[in-house]
Amino acid sequence: AAEGILRRQALRESAARTYARSLPIVPVRARGLTIEGADGRRYLDCLSGAGTLALGHNHPVVLEAIRGVLDSGAPLHVLDMATPVKDAFTTELFANLPTGLAADARVQFCGPAGTDAVEAALKLVRAATGRTGLLAFTGAYHGMTSGAMDASGGATDVRVTRLPYPQDHRCPFGVGGPEGARIAARWTESLLDDPKSGVPLPSGMIVEPVQGEGGVHPAPDGWLRRMREITAARGIPLIADEVQTGVGRTGAFWGVDHAGVVPDVMVLSKAIGGSLPLAVIVYRAELDVWTPGAHAGTFRGNQLAMAAGTATLAYVRRNGLAERAAVLGGRMLTALRGLAADEPCVGDVRGRGLMIGLELVDPDTGATAPGLAAAVRQECLDRGLIVELGGRDSSVVRLLPPLTLTDEQATAVLDRLADALPAAAR
Ligand code: PMP
Repeated sequence: AAEGILRRQALRESAARTYARSLPIVPVRARGLTIEGADGRRYLDCLSGAGTLALGHNHPVVLEAIRGVLDSGAPLHVLDMATPVKDAFTTELFANLPTGLAADARVQFCGPAGTDAVEAALKLVRAATGRTGLLAFTGAYHGMTSGAMDASGGATDVRVTRLPYPQDHRCPFGVGGPEGARIAARWTESLLDDPKSGVPLPSGMIVEPVQGEGGVHPAPDGWLRRMREITAARGIPLIADEVQTGVGRTGAFWGVDHAGVVPDVMVLSKAIGGSLPLAVIVYRAELDVWTPGAHAGTFRGNQLAMAAGTATLAYVRRNGLAERAAVLGGRMLTALRGLAADEPCVGDVRGRGLMIGLELVDPDTGATAPGLAAAVRQECLDRGLIVELGGRDSSVVRLLPPLTLTDEQATAVLDRLADALPAAAR
């Protein structure tokens, strides 16, 4: 039966195949870190719905919250109407916002995907400023709808000014560290201040606190603070895309918390829906220039997702899962750096919290090694470990385990990876 399902879907679905779609697994059960295929094989899932499953698959508190709504007879679809379920969600969400935004924030339900919320954020800052240009960064990923794609690295939309995102490894200025970040910030400043740069005052700047799809590059704290100062001084709204970094993933509740930066707009999705589709933007009330009906969407009132999201946010907060992600992520990074010391094909190990990447390189030339990265992913799969690739040339093996990962599970993940690396390099 499983073979039939795989064969039929391979024929019926579009050519835009992703890794998850080409996996030879037909999942029929899942719990926590584990996915079980129709053939009974079990896998440790470090893809976690592309970082969505903060509490892993089918966490009891999430299931209970969903059942609670179903059993209560509440409407499942309510457009923008106020409901007890929505009230609980916004209360929990606002309670967790960075201080400085929480006091006077507005939320717009978008939906259902992260990319929808990105579009809403771009639209909001254009309306609020009356300007159209956008500042975005090299290596960025913001989604697959056209505005979000324009903001992502590789796009060529003329309205977007692409600025260098500082990174230690393969620094565009060849220096890395604080010096690379300083040059990147200076570049941004000079483009904005030079009347001859051809960059008009933009509607906003959009930034990921840690670039995920771009290959796991944490923004240096000092650089992010400079971006906050530079945008604040010029009246440019700063949009933090926390779709992947939010809800404890990076070892703080929000990715911007590491730098103590308060953005004007936060784009939230993935984990805030507790594994169901939900996306919102949260922004300073001052930017709330929209007239009634200026932003809408049929699926912005998903009650099941709100309930699952409330349960997830509350669980992460009450159980200190952000702090836990910081500690466990730090331990995993240390272990992986130890591994990398014995494997010259691992050119870099980096990450923040439970957002971790290993860049595979040709040991002789230092060039990215996409073939090797794909081989590592396959060797991992053969050992019952699901990982995804990202970054330049898809050469970065990414780990996004649930924040509920136990020490024993972390060891199991590391052991399988430790086996897979030399097998792929051979
Ligand atoms: N922004 C970031 C930072 C993301 O990582 C993603 C998804 N990986 C998106 C936006 C788009 O979200 P979605 O796939 O739900 O549209």
